[in-house]
Amino acid sequence: MNTESLFAVALGITPPWEVEGVSFSKENKRLDLKIGFRRGATFACPVCGTAAPVHDTSEKSWRHLNFFQFETYLTARVPRVKCPNPDHGVKLVPVPWARAGSGFTLLFEALVMALVREMPVKTAAALLGEHDTRIWRVIDHYIQSARAQADHAEVRRIGMDETSARRGQDYISLFYDMDQRQLLFGTEGRDHETVKAFTEDLKAHNGAPENITDACLDMSKAFIKGVNEALLQRRNYF
Ligand SMILES: [Zn+2]
Repeated sequence: MNTESLFAVALGITPPWEVEGVSFSKENKRLDLKIGFRRGATFACPVCGTAAPVHDTSEKSWRHLNFFQFETYLTARVPRVKCPNPDHGVKLVPVPWARAGSGFTLLFEALVMALVREMPVKTAAALLGEHDTRIWRVIDHYIQSARAQADHAEVRRIGMDETSARRGQDYISLFYDMDQRQLLFGTEGRDHETVKAFTEDLKAHNGAPENITDACLDMSKAFIKGVNEALLQRRNYF
């Protein structure tokens, strides 16, 4: 097995994709993997899945997991295919190692998400040698897609509290599922409107205000007003 096919196996790259070249620079502390495909290869049309010929290609690259202490990058000629069905036109082929629009491979993004559970984003970014805005973009993507799928139909007992986002100012309000011990919603502010915003979010995720039987809150007038207006049908404060 040569170096190229060894890396193809390690990266899970399967035909028609193949590793065309591996170059290692000790000076730049960098490993570069060049990915391409066999001449004449076809790719599935992203619309209908029909095998379609390559129309043209554009070069893209992605940061991948470090190879030991060396930063590793994948570069590929990504094809656009021309589907036999003229309605589908010319479409960019999705690559199996990264999601559309990301400059990182899926494995690198998985590492990002594992790190940011354990440490501040700035620390994770420094550790990875990336600017934190790029790291935040990855986090935003996965948080948004996880939140879109969140199902709050079973939420019955909630807790709410306020905390300051920065030292002594800029309050945020947080809403928890007391049974699952899970954060459901957070929003800026600490007035009764935050409860309304939580209620809207609850409804958007299959939940229902009339399902809420208990609310645990401090005796701030704003929260009590919010709960009375927007939430509890049967009132239990504790
Ligand atoms: Zn098609």
